[in-house]
Amino acid sequence: MSTEVYDCIVIGAGIQGSSTAYHLAENKQKTLLLEQFVLPHSRGSSHGQTRIIRKAYEEDFYTKMMHESYELWAQLEKEAGVQLFRRTGLLVMGPENEGGFSNVKATLQKNEVPTVLLERKEFSQHIPNVNLTDGNGALVDTTAGVLYADRSLRAIQGLYQNNGGLIKDAEKVIDIKPGDVVTVTTESGAYRGKSLVITAGPWANTLLTRAGLELPLKVVKINVCYWKEKIPGTYSVSHRFPCFVQYNPKEAENVIYGLPSNEYPGLMKVCYHTGSETEPDERDKQKDRGDIDILSRYITRCFPGLVPAPAVVESCLYTVTPDDNFLLDCHPNYSNIIIGAGFSGHGFKFGPVVGKVLCQLAMGQVPSHDLSPFCIKRFQSHTKSAL
Ligand SMILES: Cc1cc2nc3c(=O)[nH]c(=O)nc-3n(C[C@H](O)[C@H](O)[C@H](O)COP(=O)(O)OP(=O)(O)OC[C@H]3O[C@@H](n4cnc5c(N)ncnc54)[C@H](O)[C@@H]3O)c2cc1C
Repeated sequence: MSTEVYDCIVIGAGIQGSSTAYHLAENKQKTLLLEQFVLPHSRGSSHGQTRIIRKAYEEDFYTKMMHESYELWAQLEKEAGVQLFRRTGLLVMGPENEGGFSNVKATLQKNEVPTVLLERKEFSQHIPNVNLTDGNGALVDTTAGVLYADRSLRAIQGLYQNNGGLIKDAEKVIDIKPGDVVTVTTESGAYRGKSLVITAGPWANTLLTRAGLELPLKVVKINVCYWKEKIPGTYSVSHRFPCFVQYNPKEAENVIYGLPSNEYPGLMKVCYHTGSETEPDERDKQKDRGDIDILSRYITRCFPGLVPAPAVVESCLYTVTPDDNFLLDCHPNYSNIIIGAGFSGHGFKFGPVVGKVLCQLAMGQVPSHDLSPFCIKRFQSHTKSAL
């Protein structure tokens, strides 16, 4: 083992670990970012070309964090000199006076987020080729848009390295020894750090068990479906079609969301916001396509300009907590082991601000956001701490 002691070791080079490492290096911390696979890879949660960024949330605390996240994304874009964000707006639809739609509307109004409320009679004039369900309301969060995900990850890792940060990929962490100086063992070496950040995405539970902690995290496989436009361009980013989220669709219990056609010309991405449970290393053994049936029926009813059978299906993983809120906290027994996990399928847009607060925790500082909604102790009855 080398005698070198890092200020911080970060495990996992997805969006959350890479953003944390970026902030640590910015703060002159000697940082090592360890990744089990050769980079880039498509086995976790951060790969793919696009993600939605929005302030439209049911919970106030997410909307508030997004104010800063937008600023940090803009700063990253400037530093990297590449476009990471494209504004498209987000169309929110759902039963007018109940559930997700009315909660989002209230949060947007309370936080003075620029929003356009669409009356039913003018809906098709603003949003052609979409059928608004009877009894549904519609609004547009005009701040929202598309993040170029793969490009963002590359840019953040590049900026981290430019600031002196070290990445070692193809180094799977197999053991963690807590202490004032934490020892992290990989398949090819051992490293020591004054603090450790664990941002292992779908593998969080495997790794946390090695740090003596079991948390109620569930990994689900998402079928990422692309649907062909009957007339190319109908729902395209260049025709200013927005991202969308549909609360309480008639076809299912969970949310359906989509992004305008962009990365694959003529194909629009529309997905169901949940999937079937899987082991992260056995993702492709999970063959359930129940979500695709739901999406086909929804598309037939609401998006008549799409062929209701997917043209391309890719795979991605969510790591979900019981309440769908993130987990951002210190290990209950070791204040120098920090955990960022359970991003529940909506964490990408928060990458820069999550990275900032995890960096603050690793440096022993008071985090600049209230992290009480994200604490470990809310799962007390499900949590086992062995060490
Ligand atoms: C289909 C899909 C659509 C989504 N859409 C959106 C969206 O529109 N907007 C949004 O904000 N979010 C969205 N998300 C969610 C977002 O992408 C995730 O919340 C985010 O990518 C999670 O990042 P992460 O860094 O926690 O995990 P990951 O990206 O999985 O990174 C974890 C990393 O840790 C590494 N690792 C694990 N174990 C070890 C080990 N033992 N040793 C070394 N390395 C290890 C893994 O290999 C991996 O690279 C979506 C997710 C999916 C799957």
